[in-house]
Amino acid sequence: MLKLNSIFNLQKEKNVEVMLCKKCNSEYSSDELMENDMICKNCGTYFRMNARQRIKSITDEGSFEEMFNDLSSSNFLSFPNYTEKLEAAKKTSGESEAVVCGTAKINGMKTAIFVMDSTFMMGSMGIVVGEKITRIFEYATEEKLPVLGFTTSGGARMQEGIFSLMQMAKVSGAVKRHSNEGLLYIAVLTDPTTGGVTASFAMEGDITIAEPNALVGFAGARVIEQTTGQKLPEGFQRAEFLMNHGFVDMIESRRKLRYVISKILLMHDFKRN
Ligand SMILES: [Zn+2]
Repeated sequence: MLKLNSIFNLQKEKNVEVMLCKKCNSEYSSDELMENDMICKNCGTYFRMNARQRIKSITDEGSFEEMFNDLSSSNFLSFPNYTEKLEAAKKTSGESEAVVCGTAKINGMKTAIFVMDSTFMMGSMGIVVGEKITRIFEYATEEKLPVLGFTTSGGARMQEGIFSLMQMAKVSGAVKRHSNEGLLYIAVLTDPTTGGVTASFAMEGDITIAEPNALVGFAGARVIEQTTGQKLPEGFQRAEFLMNHGFVDMIESRRKLRYVISKILLMHDFKRN
């Protein structure tokens, strides 16, 4: 996982997690970084947030109530080493799967929320990720709640074969039924959002927000260049490029995100309760 992560390295020193900004080499403790919304104070580089950090930064304190945490994946195709990988992912991330779901309040307004976590197998989507996100949309439809979703993913989970691809259609169906009731879905694309997640629910929000410089795409840039035989433009698949080409409604800094989301919820009449 760390090799894939171009933003930061983790070091262990005296049992304190020290995080190093890859751009300017500034060192921070994780608490210090979290106080600054996981943004480098020196150069402004965004560190990736895990699901719990995101929930803490965006929701009213103590308001998050987790749901569907009892679901966990199994190696039903007997894919080589998948069982071990799942165990390792649980240990490193502290999560049971690559998405955390529940309800929370934002400035007093109740919303259903799902937050993907790239520290669990790069946020890849297998049956359990698809099922948890489907269930949170179904719950929100029943309870007439908006859905706020934070995406980060390497794509479908290859260890679960075609079943992971089927999640794209399953979640999309639940998004549509939620939408048919006139309910709001805000998608926040964070670095990186790729593959089958981009090709389904990440791009199905009524309002699509991206974090600055987030990588958002389907296939990797190198694969596209090799397939088409063409050189891709500068900034391809970055949030700003997508914004200029109409795929994203707004790019919002992490510092203002909570304010912007609560304003959108208020505009859509999700009253404080
Ligand atoms: Zn920095």
